[in-house]
Amino acid sequence: MLEANGLMVFYENMLALNNVHLRCKKEEIVGVFGANSAGKSTLMYTLSGIMDDIRKKEAMAGGERITVLGEIKYLGREIGALKPSKRAREGIILCPERRRIFRESSVMENLRIGGYLSTAAQASETIDYVFSLFPALKNLRKRIGGFLSGGEQQMLAIGRALMAQPKLLLLDEPLLGLSPLMQATLVRSTRVIRDQRKISLIVTEQYARPVLPIVDYAFILENGTAVLEGNREELMGNPDVRAAYFGVN
Ligand code: ATP
Repeated sequence: MLEANGLMVFYENMLALNNVHLRCKKEEIVGVFGANSAGKSTLMYTLSGIMDDIRKKEAMAGGERITVLGEIKYLGREIGALKPSKRAREGIILCPERRRIFRESSVMENLRIGGYLSTAAQASETIDYVFSLFPALKNLRKRIGGFLSGGEQQMLAIGRALMAQPKLLLLDEPLLGLSPLMQATLVRSTRVIRDQRKISLIVTEQYARPVLPIVDYAFILENGTAVLEGNREELMGNPDVRAAYFGVN
């Protein structure tokens, strides 16, 4: 589905991603775990192509120089040169960190905006699907986004991403700042989405513990370098991983 090789991202002289190799097969959930500043968002921006927009904006404003190197293959084809809008049309959809919903728009408006790539029939089917996945959102459909709780905003952010008909959904730190109960709900929903929509997902998180039970494969990022990778059992059985990313020994 997706394979990235030798990804390097520099912010000026600062190396944010260092020769990262990553792959996500069809209908897999792949985890990327790492501490603050490990490079998780940089990776997600690079895969979705948004890094290219950021790079151009910085260059136009005479700001910092951002350099992106490496190869990204998606469905067998190199997409490194594709604009983010093109990648979205091909099915790579980013649900960014800190749930960037439209805070002044209602739940329903947020979903409709997310469906700009869909046909009317797809949009209406997907709205029904999102409401069946997150029944709480259905009751809140007229509520303004900015007035939702953190968990509701995250459900909306995922719902909006689903409206774009992803084949590969990139979830950047979806659990950040949420209660354990809400985290459990979202982790469960992530697996349900994979099973029911038959899509692939890459999920970044600081802590592996809540997400590891649903991942097929995962990578550990440290200071921009993928230091470890393996399937769920391999990572759960690794004492270093357990100590550093699970908070247990
Ligand atoms: P967090 O959990 O804090 O979101 P992260 O793993 O997503 O962390 P990134 O946001 O990708 O990490 O940042 C990786 C490194 O790159 C950090 O050292 C960060 O300070 C740096 N960085 C990120 N964006 C920029 C930028 N626009 N300019 C300069 N440095 C940046």
